[in-house]
Amino acid sequence: MFDIEKIKTDFPIFKHHPDLHYLDSGASTQTPQVVIDAMNDYYTTYRSNTHRGMYTIAVKATEAFENARAIVARSLNAQDQEIIFTSGTTHGLNALAYTLTPRLSHRDNVVITKMEHHANLVPWQQMAKHYGFELRFIDVTSDYRLDMESAKKLIDKNTKILSFTFASNVLGTVNPVKELVALAKPFRTITIVDAAQGAAHFPIDVKDIDCDFLVFSGHKIYGPTGVGVLYGKKVMLEEHLEPFFFGGDMVVEVSLQSATWSEVPARFEAGTQNIAGVIGLGAAIKYQESVGWENIIKHEEKLTAYLLQQLQGIGIHVIGPSTPTNRIGAVAFSLPGIHPHDIADLMGTENVAI
Ligand code: PMP
Repeated sequence: MFDIEKIKTDFPIFKHHPDLHYLDSGASTQTPQVVIDAMNDYYTTYRSNTHRGMYTIAVKATEAFENARAIVARSLNAQDQEIIFTSGTTHGLNALAYTLTPRLSHRDNVVITKMEHHANLVPWQQMAKHYGFELRFIDVTSDYRLDMESAKKLIDKNTKILSFTFASNVLGTVNPVKELVALAKPFRTITIVDAAQGAAHFPIDVKDIDCDFLVFSGHKIYGPTGVGVLYGKKVMLEEHLEPFFFGGDMVVEVSLQSATWSEVPARFEAGTQNIAGVIGLGAAIKYQESVGWENIIKHEEKLTAYLLQQLQGIGIHVIGPSTPTNRIGAVAFSLPGIHPHDIADLMGTENVAI
């Protein structure tokens, strides 16, 4: 049975701050005890490096790390080798922008949308300056939805990359992810989905979406900070993506002048990883699944509808879709004549975190 009061007791922050009204999950979620326990267990009982030692705790650390990869892979309907651990969404998007754009020229274009987070805008901007390709932006409609007519016009035979957000952290808009990817297919455009927000609100099936890459962060899905996922289709990882960090654990043979790369995903995970973070991320995904996607989606729809209705009822201007359909619960609003900083400050004094 879905019991929100019971779920709240899973989060130790509310024991320490019983009056906290935490409405800032779009920025970073709180951490359930099971995630903290999984990481503590690693630190207190088997802390060691992975993929190196033959002693008992090192073997256990490697198993726990790879088990977390298997949990992530299963949750996305992907293969284990298609999961690369990163430090978060920003890391994943930068890695893709840096490695996929050097072969582009002034004849090519990259398409993103006008509702991207800076993490999916600035890296492409910088690479466009460097390599001379055109950066195009899919429009947003007056109801803050993505303008699919604009998308159809902008994506063409010279579009080498289409990168867009699953859901907007500002507007709350959920984009037609599958349709967007389908628009790019005839042009063999590489598709990238920023699921930083999406992964907190919906189960994700990368095979169904059919995207080439998808990225998200642990801290937005009840996991720890400093860990994230870069999913890549196996053929993309093996044939299209160059390693973006170099060092230990990603090489097979090294001489003074050259090196050869390990299999995927190891070739993309140079150096010691955020082992506790990865283990915590695995526990967070299991926690999300234990609450149940149907319950999460239903509860969020109810809260979003209530919030929109209440805000609109007192004449507050909502910047985002006005109904809860195809919308997450991130709600932006403005009050004429009052600076957002002052609103957030005032609400903070009432223990309302926005
Ligand atoms: N994309 C979106 C849609 C986001 O909401 C965020 C975080 N607000 C990011 C990217 C960046 O995520 P991170 O800070 O975890 O790298």
